[in-house]
Parts: sequence; structure tokens; C-alpha cells
Amino acid sequence: MPPSPPPIQATKQMKKLMAGHFLGLDQASREGRPKVAWCTSVGPAELLHAMGFDVYYPENHGALLGATRLATEMIPMANAAGYSPDICSYLTADIGAFLKGVTPLTQAYGIEAVPKADVLVFNTNQCRDVEDWFAFYARHWNIPLLGVRTHRGVGEVKPHYIADVVSQFKDMIPTLEKVSGNKFDIDRLREVVRLSKECTRRWRQVLELAAQRPTPMSFFDHTIHMAPAVVLRGKQEAVDYYDLLLAELEQRVAEGVAAVPGERHRLYWEGMPVWGRLRMLSESLTNLGAAVVASTYCNSWIFDAFDPASPFESMARAYLELFIVRDDDYKERYISDWAERFGIEGIIFHDAKTCPNNSNNRYAMPQRLAKKLGIATLTINGDLNDLRCFSDEQAKTNIEAFVEQLEEKAA
Ligand code: SF4
Repeated sequence: MPPSPPPIQATKQMKKLMAGHFLGLDQASREGRPKVAWCTSVGPAELLHAMGFDVYYPENHGALLGATRLATEMIPMANAAGYSPDICSYLTADIGAFLKGVTPLTQAYGIEAVPKADVLVFNTNQCRDVEDWFAFYARHWNIPLLGVRTHRGVGEVKPHYIADVVSQFKDMIPTLEKVSGNKFDIDRLREVVRLSKECTRRWRQVLELAAQRPTPMSFFDHTIHMAPAVVLRGKQEAVDYYDLLLAELEQRVAEGVAAVPGERHRLYWEGMPVWGRLRMLSESLTNLGAAVVASTYCNSWIFDAFDPASPFESMARAYLELFIVRDDDYKERYISDWAERFGIEGIIFHDAKTCPNNSNNRYAMPQRLAKKLGIATLTINGDLNDLRCFSDEQAKTNIEAFVEQLEEKAA
């Protein structure tokens, strides 16, 4: 087995930030101030921060349920309440855990329950499941459910799409003012958008450092260190965190520290992580000298369009330009570009049983990309959270055969 790379020191600071985030939300929820908004992961968080809400992201909670492997036993509770085992397993794990009165936040931070929402805000840019998910809590707590319904399968982001999303953002403001007790202030929104832009710029730099050989960080590290970009964007802490992480990664590059010692192959991960099997997958690939250096999933929190000079329009553009909202032609160009820049030899597609929205293997994209780029592709069947859909043995065998194929090609 190759030696492990030294641990990333910035992780300690990230853990502190995440603890502060959840403990702050818990306090706000118990004291009723500031008001708490739940937001989908690529929803209009900037508007919510600008209105003075503490912002909580249920998908992050869904991923925690997956990573702690609690999800698989929570999902049946939601199934019994009528939520199908075939729909998003973030949704079923989260609602199941709520019905059971369980959260991984208890073990991690001593927090009894997830923070109660005062308002729920979704964006269907990623899928329709998020609306149904939040509707469960809106009924349960009898609180306002607001949302943006976005165009999907977008090729070119057209001006009338942006105008539509901007007007949907603006329509939310009267309810947000009523719930928060604060007046909307455009200058405050500009400042939050500026901070989100600074955060996202640094997150892009972190991800782009993986173009170095050897890469200082792998996809599996990215899934951990993306947390501040997901839940703290719009805040200075996230900007400061990525400055710290970048300095450490640049040092690693200068010293030739490899995330995968003896890196021999460079791969791309397409689709959702398998949260409960990150370590197993990381170790299997590392043992074969294969580094996963890029992924569309972790790139989803790069929002190049943010511009404080036009906060609403740039937010609308940023949330419409996302990979998951786009048509297949765009997605193929996007993956080809990253594959070429990162020296990718193979793409692993994760076909996540409960997330068709983020499983891009189902309409022959792997075959088209293999032909176009002249690289190998592999599809792994599994799920983001429901481990009943994932076989360790099958995944390991498929990965071994895939890397062998890369070895033969290289020879
Ligand atoms: S994109 Fe997939 S994983 Fe994310 S909320 Fe929608 S269905 Fe769930």
C-alpha cells in the first residue's frame, strides 16, 4: 500500500467554522433571532443573507446523513410516510430522520434537532424534488414556502430567462421582509454578492490546482473542503478559509506533495458522490495509483457570474449557468474542456439510483465522450445516500478492471 499523504492542516479550521455555523443556527432557532431560512444548495442564499436570515441547507444535512451512514436506516421512515424509495435519497433520508427525531448534528455538536425554519426557499434549477421536500416542512410548521422555478435543459442562457428569474427573486422580498422584520437593502445585497464572488473565485482556484501533476488534492478531499463554499458563501469566513487552504495547497504543489502517492492515472468523477463510501472509493483508487482530479459535482459551487454591480441579474445568471441546469451539448463541451485541461485519461460516471438529475450516463453521454475524447469511461451503479443500491465488491471489481484498462493503454 502506498504511504498516505500528510493530512491537510486547514481541515482543523474548517471543522471550527462548521461547528460555528451549526451552533449559531441552533441558537437562532432556540431564541427566535435572527430568523432562520432554509435554502436549497444552489438557491438564492445571497438574498437571504442580505435580509438578515441565518441560512441552513438541508442538502448539506442530507449529505451528513449519508456520510455518517445513518441515511440507509432513515429512508424507510420516509417511505412509510409515502415518499417513494425511488425519489431523492437526500429528501427521504432527511424527512425520515426528522420523523424519527434523529440528526448527526447531535453526535457532532451536541445539537438536539435541526434548526426550525421560519421560511423555506427553493430553486428548481437542480430538480423538482427540492420543492416537494420543502413542502413537507411548510405543511408541518405552517410556514411560508417560496421558490424560483427555473428553465431546465438550458443551452444558451437567454436574456428573458434571466429577466424571469430576477422577477421571481424580487417577488419573494415582501414575504422575506415580513418574516425577518428587516427592510430589503440593495447595498447589503451587493456586499453579500461581493463576498460570494470572492468565495467562489477562491474555490475555483482550489479546484484548478488539481491540474498540477501530481495533484495536491483529490475529488475526495474536495467533497470535504467544499463545505464552506456551500454553506458559508456570502460570508467573510468562507473567503478567509479559502485563503488559508490555498496557501497550504500552493505549498504542497511547490514541494510536490501528492494527494495520491505515486500518481499514475488521472480521472474525472461525473455525478453525485457516494457519501457513505467516500473512504472506500478513495482508498481503492489510491491503491491503484489513480487520482480523481476533477468533478462536475464539486465545480457546482463555482459561480463566475456574480457581480455586485448588478446583484439580481448576476445571481440569476449564476444560478442558470449551472451544469445541472444545462442541455447535453453544453454538458459535453464542459466535461471535454475540464478533461483536456486536467489531462484526464478516464471518466467515472456515477449512476445514482435516486438522482436522475445528476446522473448523466443514461442517454449515451459516456459513449459520445469516449469517442470524442478518445478516453475510457466507466459507469458505477450506486446512490448518493441509499447504500442498498451500492455494492462494494462490484464497485471495487469494476474500478480494478477500469484501471487495468488504463494501464494497458498507457503501456
Ligand atoms: S439534484 Fe439530485 S441529489 Fe440533489 S436534491 Fe435533486 S434529486 Fe436530490
